[in-house]
Amino acid sequence: MNEAYPITDHTYDAVVVGAGGSGLRAAMGIAETGLKTACITKVFPTRSHTVAAQGGIAASLGNMGPDHWTWHMYDTVKGSDWLGDQDAIEYLCREAPAAVYELEHYGVPFSRTEEGKIYQRAFGGMTQNMGEGPAAQRTCAAADRTGHAMLHALYQQSLRYDTDFFIEYFALDLIMDEDGTCRGVIAMDMETGLIHRFRAHNTVLATGGYGRAYFSATSAHTCTGDGGGMVLRAGLPMQDMEFVQFHPTGVYGAGVLITEGARGEGGYLTNSEGERFMERYAPSAKDLASRDVVSRSMAMEMREGRGVGSEGDHINLHLDHIDPETLAERLPGISETAKIFAGVDVTKGPIPVTPTVHYNMGGIPTNYHGEVVTKKDGDPDSVVPGLFAVGEAGCVSVHGANRLGSNSLIDLVVFGRGAAHRIQEITKPGTKHGDINASADEKALTRLDGFRHAKGGSPTAEVRLAMQKTMQSNCAVFRTSEVLDEGKAKINAVYQRMADLSITDRTLVWNTDLIETLELDNMIGQAVMTMDMAANRTESRGAHMHEDFPDRNDADWMAHSLGWFRDGRTELETRPVHSYTLSQDIDYIKPKKRVY
Ligand SMILES: Cc1cc2nc3c(=O)[nH]c(=O)nc-3n(C[C@H](O)[C@H](O)[C@H](O)COP(=O)(O)OP(=O)(O)OC[C@H]3O[C@@H](n4cnc5c(N)ncnc54)[C@H](O)[C@@H]3O)c2cc1C
Repeated sequence: MNEAYPITDHTYDAVVVGAGGSGLRAAMGIAETGLKTACITKVFPTRSHTVAAQGGIAASLGNMGPDHWTWHMYDTVKGSDWLGDQDAIEYLCREAPAAVYELEHYGVPFSRTEEGKIYQRAFGGMTQNMGEGPAAQRTCAAADRTGHAMLHALYQQSLRYDTDFFIEYFALDLIMDEDGTCRGVIAMDMETGLIHRFRAHNTVLATGGYGRAYFSATSAHTCTGDGGGMVLRAGLPMQDMEFVQFHPTGVYGAGVLITEGARGEGGYLTNSEGERFMERYAPSAKDLASRDVVSRSMAMEMREGRGVGSEGDHINLHLDHIDPETLAERLPGISETAKIFAGVDVTKGPIPVTPTVHYNMGGIPTNYHGEVVTKKDGDPDSVVPGLFAVGEAGCVSVHGANRLGSNSLIDLVVFGRGAAHRIQEITKPGTKHGDINASADEKALTRLDGFRHAKGGSPTAEVRLAMQKTMQSNCAVFRTSEVLDEGKAKINAVYQRMADLSITDRTLVWNTDLIETLELDNMIGQAVMTMDMAANRTESRGAHMHEDFPDRNDADWMAHSLGWFRDGRTELETRPVHSYTLSQDIDYIKPKKRVY
């Protein structure tokens, strides 16, 4: 086999897979300590999905009114519907202000207040004084192009350090030892089709989310959950996959995002009767309730016949009452998006919107150092040596059952940096590389070769569409046992078609047919896992609204879902939620009813 695929070897102290916000921050941090670092990415770094983030990055700077990191922590815990791990949330919120100032010093051109401080806008679920006070303006913004500004600044900074970038390389699989230690990753240079083996003492997965498992998603077509696919094939579990965030305001028909910042700047939603219906569902936070609540309320309105349009299948988002100058200054990007994708002049009319898949709260389970964990010998926090996961690929879990807007960008930099610190602590420069388990690359190359020569009857695009449609119809905002059971059967049938794939291009140079197939294979296991975990969780919490079990059930379900994928079947277990904090500065925030 290896004769057909000659291997080029590389050795590193650390290899980071992914060059979005989390991957770049991790790679920079590791290289800064003098460790030999590589960063592999399937797209040019500044094309990673982070570039599309609009609204902003949360940190309790208090530039626009009183704020404190403990208030940010309270909101995040409540937003997570108490499924978030409070040690990790404390770490996130406490480190957030320093992380934003660091970005400022790296050159992120934040919008400014009159006095020249970083501008902060209101975002959903962010309050003052542990939910007792008014809305907090906590989301630091560079107009509505925050992710763009951040990713460019991080890439420029990362060039100051000695990271070796391998751009347009597609990571195929992890190299795992028989004892369960990760020794690096196998990748393909997409331009030449040549195989590269990166041996590393530390491997960091920063591969982003798997939003493209659904039909309508705000995420880029590259968001195919490749890290999760690699982890499942390595026999490791994924966590909390049933929690899929639907953003309330995707442009109807196109799926492109209109940032929550639009409502942060005063935008509001109306139904076909022109009513501001959010006043009924969330009397105090209204249009700025958390995303799961707003998406569900919109779905309710449409279901009860108050949707907009001839099909009654969308909702109106109004910005037309806001001063055009403010729109031009604070929301220029989405004003353009509305024009291009909905033909709407936002100063004159409403934007047609509908809840659209936006973020995966679930992912590869880690502790707050970014170390991947698994359940082993009864220990639910057992660290997988040599393996880290950060960003949307990971589940640390700060977002629990529902992520608050602007809490992802901050998660990228705080935990990207945290993983780098941990790697510095545990790695001695110049440590020798041991023997490598040859069966690991044999397995990866057999899989590659199998897809490359696949001669079945189902083109990749067809199977992918069947998966996306199934996820969209059977695992959406509202779920019932009946719909989920049907979904399980349907997604399993799609999975069976993976054995019948057909590929037409057998070359190795820029073979997009093959790459898309590898991506589909990465997504399908996670799609099955998402459906099965959703069917298994017999309660409603955060983004998981199970109509047969409409209440949160802390007695039975204050637990993370944990699942392995073996021979096409999921094996589900649970893992306890961390109900403790890191320091004496704040106590565990006890569960209560979540109202906005
Ligand atoms: C439209 C949109 C707007 C958003 N707005 C906001 C916002 O305002 N505030 C906020 O907090 N959050 C926002 N989010 C969420 C947030 O932007 C993402 O969760 C975050 O950017 C993900 O970053 P990441 O570093 O995890 O991965 P990504 O930025 O998705 O990057 C993934 C990287 O992994 C690489 N990769 C993947 N697979 C492979 C492979 N097999 N081999 C090699 N490389 C691979 C890719 O090349 C890429 O470099 C938004 C999301 C979207 C989609």
